[in-house]
This record gives sequence, structure tokens and C-alpha cells, in this order.
Amino acid sequence: MRMQPEGDVGPRSMRAIGAMLWQFMKPYGWRILGLVLFNALIAWITPLRQISVAPALNILTKSITPPAESLSTITLNNVGPTLLHWLGLDPAQPMRVILVIVSIYVGLTVVQALLDLLGFMIMIKVRLGMLRDMVVAAQRHLLTLPLSFFLRRRAGDLVSRVTNDISATANSLDAIVRGVMQSGVMVAVYMAMLFRTDAMLAGGIVMIGCLHLVLNGILGRSARRRTRLSSDTLAALMHRMIETLQGIRVIKSFAAERYMDRQNRDSVNDYCEATERFRTILYLDQPIRLVINALVIALAVAACFYSYNNGRLGVTGFGLFLLLCLQLVNPLSELSRKFLELQSIMGGAARIQELFAEQNTLVDGDLTPAPMREGIVLRDVRFRFPKGNFELRDINLEIRRGEMVAIVGPSGSGKSTLVDLILRLYDADAGEVLYDGTNVKRFLQRPYRRQFGVVAQESLLFNGSVSDNVVFNREPNPDAVLRALDIANARGFAEKFADGIHTFVGDRGVRVSGGERQRIAIARAIYESPSVLVLDEATSALDSESEAAVQEAIDRVTREVTTVVIAHRLSTIQHADKVVVLKDGRIEAVGTSEELLASSPTYRRLYALQFGGAEAEAA
Ligand code: ADP
Ligand code: MG
Repeated sequence: MRMQPEGDVGPRSMRAIGAMLWQFMKPYGWRILGLVLFNALIAWITPLRQISVAPALNILTKSITPPAESLSTITLNNVGPTLLHWLGLDPAQPMRVILVIVSIYVGLTVVQALLDLLGFMIMIKVRLGMLRDMVVAAQRHLLTLPLSFFLRRRAGDLVSRVTNDISATANSLDAIVRGVMQSGVMVAVYMAMLFRTDAMLAGGIVMIGCLHLVLNGILGRSARRRTRLSSDTLAALMHRMIETLQGIRVIKSFAAERYMDRQNRDSVNDYCEATERFRTILYLDQPIRLVINALVIALAVAACFYSYNNGRLGVTGFGLFLLLCLQLVNPLSELSRKFLELQSIMGGAARIQELFAEQNTLVDGDLTPAPMREGIVLRDVRFRFPKGNFELRDINLEIRRGEMVAIVGPSGSGKSTLVDLILRLYDADAGEVLYDGTNVKRFLQRPYRRQFGVVAQESLLFNGSVSDNVVFNREPNPDAVLRALDIANARGFAEKFADGIHTFVGDRGVRVSGGERQRIAIARAIYESPSVLVLDEATSALDSESEAAVQEAIDRVTREVTTVVIAHRLSTIQHADKVVVLKDGRIEAVGTSEELLASSPTYRRLYALQFGGAEAEAA
């Protein structure tokens, strides 16, 4: 499914969104049911409280009609006397009646308040539980998606889906469930009383009440679209912030603060504009509803008067009918508002659902790879990025166990992409990548990738100690950590930190230099002795002194394991068993350095650039 920046939520995705929301509500089924019952109970109490004052009206107007014989014959005309009858109160003792009625009124309110509190506590648990489940599930799902997904997406967009959209959805959902239940039950109770007293009158009121639904119909689609737009612009805003923070060094050194400020302001403006439009629609309905409510009340007054004159309503019936109509309008408009709100959260929920709908396009096999015995073979491999013209093609290459294979070539010739194919971060469009003779698609991805240790050009150290960064996701083993640090030429400097190898590095820890960071990364790559070590320009971002230190580490490591090294400096690959020259996505030549000087013009050119023209000529 595509993630559209602006668009409506179609009926099919509505169903998908509903299914997703239900999936997260299901674990809380009982609690939600409890909430619903609670709210139904609470909702009953409000009209009961109103009706409990009925006997006072009867006493005031001195119109004591006969009580109803049974529940089914209660109407607003006789509810007062019926209550007096049930409570065994004598209308001749008005003070006593008032006292009892007032006590009942206060008692019911206290009960309602207590239930409200309890419902609120359950609701918080449900709301936070759902929020937690959704965030965990979304993060877990994100981690299952292939690298290519993340290359297509903006980080801010993903962050805002996992944070803003999920919390907005989880938070409003329970408010809506509660609101719909409470208002729904109240409307039903009031309507039942009104209908029983005067069906025609009540029918007229329902008709006008339906104007609320018409309003919902008119505004709903727009509400969905506008929430969506507001979420999308928030995502763009978050992306800007992430970009600013990540690029702060570049921004500062280019004195580009004002430029970034302008861009940030534009994003904020977009967001505010979209949010204003979204808020407008959420509040635009309020004044309209006010008018609809006024119409309901106007009709009620006129019709009550008419019925009273006709003798269909008594004095107290008239008063109560009007009272209940006045009470009805609020829950009635609240109920339809909740449905409008529900429509509006669909915009944000759609963004979450789209995230969950993303599938891992790299299909897992079922084999678990053993440590490599023979080697890796690429046969007629072809690969093209979905967006872009670059294509790797006719890739035939063998990496035998124990070999050091170097890949060289101009920038953009496809070296990193070739390695990514070996790691199966992408699948080849044609041809195959074989690991010990088995197509890599047949392996479980994670065990397969764990056969590799990878060092990238600029390695990321996570927040944690040196030791944590070496162990990373594997079993901690202090001896192995020291061994890896030794081999990586990193133990010396790491032990000089304040807390030795337990010193925090990364974002919030000590700042390590580029060379130190790369050596920690090498230790991480060789911890647990991988079958194949992959070095993608591991030294290219370093100054010569650090490079020498890292190179020494690399030389030590490559004697022991199979290595694929992408090198920007040819001096570092003089003892490679095999050098592969890539140019424009094709293998131009394979051989030793001396052979390539004879056979590969690209290699000759790279060689001349680094060692000077004369030397290349001589060779
Ligand atoms: P090298 O490592 O040799 O410098 P790469 O393998 O990183 O080159 O990239 C090879 C080519 O593929 C480049 O032209 C680059 O622009 C293109 N490329 C890399 N990643 C992507 C991507 N995710 N989408 C589209 N094109 C890409
Ligand atoms: Mg590269």
C-alpha cells in the first residue's frame, strides 16, 4: 500500500483500519466491556436524577394524578405520583417529601461520581495498555521491514506514525467509546420517556435531531482528510527536526542557521495551517449544532404547548417534557459529535494501518546456515534500485574461504551495493548468490547475516560502554571482548578511558575519535568470529595516523578470516588474494594487483591517481 500524503480513507481501508483497531482492543475486551457497562450505568443515573425531582413539581403545582400501576404505564405525566407511591411518601407532608427527594438526588450524584472515578481508572489502564501495545507492535513491525523500506522513507514520518498517530488514536478511542456509550444511553432513556408520554411529539424531535447526522455526513469526509493532512505535516516537521539535529555539525560549519530556521519555520507554518483547518472543522460543527439544538427546543416548546392545550399533557407532564427535552439536546449533539470525532481519528489511524500493512519483501527461507566451509559465489547477478538508473549486471564472482577479496572502483560504481547483495540486504533481480552452494534466499535471514561481521565507513556506536558496543546483540563474554579489542588494536586506548572498557561511548558518552570508533567497530565485527568479515571503506574517513592504526588491525584480522574489503586506498590491498575492479555496475576485471595493472584501464587509472603517473606507467 502506498503512503499517500493527502487522500481520503476509502471504504476498504476503513475496514482494514477497523480490523487493526479491533486487534488492539481485543486484549482489553473484558475491561472495555466493563467500561461500556459502567458508562451505561452512569448514563442511566443522569436522567434518573432529573426525574427524581418530579414529585416536587407535583407538590408545587398541587396536581397529584393517580400513580402508574406498573413500570410499563409510567409516563412523564404520572412519574411524580408514582415515585411518591413507591417511596410511601404522603403529598400532604411536603417538607418530608422535599427532604427525601433532595437526599435521593444527592445520593444518586455521589454514586454517579464514584462510578465515574472507577470508570476513569479502568479507562486509563485500557488507554495506556493499548498505547503500549500499539507502539511496541509498530516498532517491532518496523524492525522486520527490509533496508530498502527505510531508504524510501523519511525518518520523521516513521517517528510521527509511531508516536503522534498512535497516541492520538489510542487516546481518543476510549474517549469516544465512553462518550458514545454515555450519550447513547442517555439519549435512549430520554427518548423512551418522551415517546411513552407523547409519541408524535417525540417523533418530531427525532426528525430534527437527525439534522445532526446530516451534518456529520457533510463534515465527515473533510474531517478525515484534514486530520490526515495535519498528521502528514507534523511528520514533515519532525523530519526537519531530525535532519537539523543530525546535521548540526554541517549547519554550524556552513553558518546555515538562518537557512535552516527559514525551512523549519516553513514546516511549522504548514503544520499550523493544516492543524488550523483540522481544528476548524472539529469546532465548526459546534455552532451549527447549537442552532439545531435550538430548533429542537423551539419545536418542543411549541408542541408541548399545543399538547397541553389539547389535554394530552398535564401540568407536570408539560414541565417534565420540556425539562427532558432540554436535557436531551446535549447528549444528542454530543453523540453525533463523537461519531464525527471517530471519523477524524480515522485519518491518523490510517497512517498507522499503512505502516502495519507494509510487508517484508525479502522472503525468509527455512535453512539455518552453518559457519562457511567453501565460500560465496555470485552467478550472473543483476540488480537495479526501484528508483534510479543504476544497475549492477553480469556479476560473476567467487569468494573462497580464507581469501581476502578486495573490491575497488570509482565512487558510485556499485561496490557497496554488491556487498549489500552478498549480505542479502536486497535480493538480486536475476542470477543467484550462493553461500556454500546454497542460494541465500533459502536461509533464515537473521542467522544468515550473523555469519558476517560488517564495518562501514562511519560506524555508529550505540549508547553504552565500549564493551556493550563490542558485544552488541550477542552473548556477553568478557574474555572474547578483550580478545576482539586486542585484535582490533583497540584495547590499548579503551583501557585508558576513565572506566576502561566500561566507559560509556556513543551519543551521551565520551567522544571517541574516528579512528578509535572504527577500531571499536572492528572489534564488534569480529566478536564471535564471523565466517566473513566485510569492510566497506572502513578507513576512508580517517586521517593517516588513525588509518595506519586501523589498517594494522585490519591486516591482523584478515589473516584469520575470509574478508571482503572495499578499499579506497590501493596500498591497503597489496596482499589481497583477488582484486575485483568494478566500473559502472559491471566487473571490469579480476586478478592480482600486478595482473590488473596490465589488464584493467580503470585499475591503472586509480593506481596512477594514488601512486603518481610515472609509477603506473612503469608498471
Ligand atoms: P559505491 O559504494 O561504489 O560508491 P554504491 O554501491 O553505494 O556505490 O552506489 C552505486 C550507485 O547506486 C550509485 O550511483 C548510487 O547513486 C546508486 N544508489 C545507491 N543506493 C541507492 C538507492 N537506495 N536507490 C537508488 N539508487 C541508489
Ligand atoms: Mg560505497
